[in-house]
Amino acid sequence: MNRNQDVVLKPLITEFDLKVRVGNLVREIADDFNGDKLIVIGLLKGSFMFLADMVRLFYVHNIPLLIDFIVASSYGAGTESSGEVNMTRDINTDIRSKWVLLVDDILDTGRTLNLVSRQLLKRKPAVLKTCVLLDKPDRRVIPFQADYVGFTIPDKFVVGYGLDYDSHYRELPYLSVVSFKNRNSES
Ligand code: 5GP
Ligand code: MG
Repeated sequence: MNRNQDVVLKPLITEFDLKVRVGNLVREIADDFNGDKLIVIGLLKGSFMFLADMVRLFYVHNIPLLIDFIVASSYGAGTESSGEVNMTRDINTDIRSKWVLLVDDILDTGRTLNLVSRQLLKRKPAVLKTCVLLDKPDRRVIPFQADYVGFTIPDKFVVGYGLDYDSHYRELPYLSVVSFKNRNSES
């Protein structure tokens, strides 16, 4: 982080609005689900809080689950994508002929979900659906549409509810937009 810049957080989506939307999203997914169990795959680290809230609601909807994680990263330490996606941890769950829900925090350029879903499809799941809490369609580099989207947001860098800036702010229970204030400037 540049020492001459202060991070300014501007609230974007409240804890209450997240809760309501996640509840509706899970209901939508539960209505569409038609398998014996659902394999929920979270993309770490950003999806951990969203996924934790979702799986507890799937329990309420009586949907049997298996949960696994993939680690993929395309961001370095800043707010701009490096353009390269690395998958550093794979699932060890067999997804052949299963209903799979791939969950990510945010769909930005589309590189991560495009790469990961292509890898998963090679393993022949019965159904692969993708779900993101946030979608920034203006930023897309690779055409990709998620099956379930929590909120569509403008091209701003956001943190909280699992999303970080330079490894910070993941623990915020709400979403904020990050901006920077130069310490040497007035106001
Ligand atoms: P994509 O591959 O679609 O460009 O990027 C997806 C990943 O980039 C997300 O899973 C997330 O980790 C990161 N990302 C994209 N936009 C944002 C943002 O506004 N805030 C944060 N914290 N991460 C973002
Ligand atoms: Mg991510």
